Amino acid sequence: MFRALLPESGQHKGSCSCASDGCGKSTREGKPFCSLHIEQADYIQAILSELACREKEEAVLNKKRGFIPQDGFFVREGLLLLRTRDFTVKAFSRRLDISHHAAERLISMLVKWGHAKRKKAGRGGATVSCSGERDLEDGI
Ligand SMILES: [Zn+2]
Repeated sequence: MFRALLPESGQHKGSCSCASDGCGKSTREGKPFCSLHIEQADYIQAILSELACREKEEAVLNKKRGFIPQDGFFVREGLLLLRTRDFTVKAFSRRLDISHHAAERLISMLVKWGHAKRKKAGRGGATVSCSGERDLEDGI
């Protein structure tokens, strides 16, 4: 939110009005939102770009080859899940709302990159777990 308070070396001088519904307050330096609503713009942008990433990565995972970015949406979400407990591929795919094939591919990549490891044991069949120390980051 501090970004809104900092002066921009903007070329867009002049007044504009806030694009937030029912606000209409004039904004500084031609910004699309006033300082009260700038977070709204960032928030929406963040969601839209997150959705776009998810869609793009899911398409890659559904194919037979190709890699998703190591700092992308599914690596992040997958690791968040694996830090909570072990998952079967089925449960993992369900939680991430992706196909079984996509989940298998994601797990293979996580294992390849050293983020996760597969376990063969257990009644439910093979599971995957986080390779780092669990709860170390979240526990503090
Ligand atoms: Zn506003």
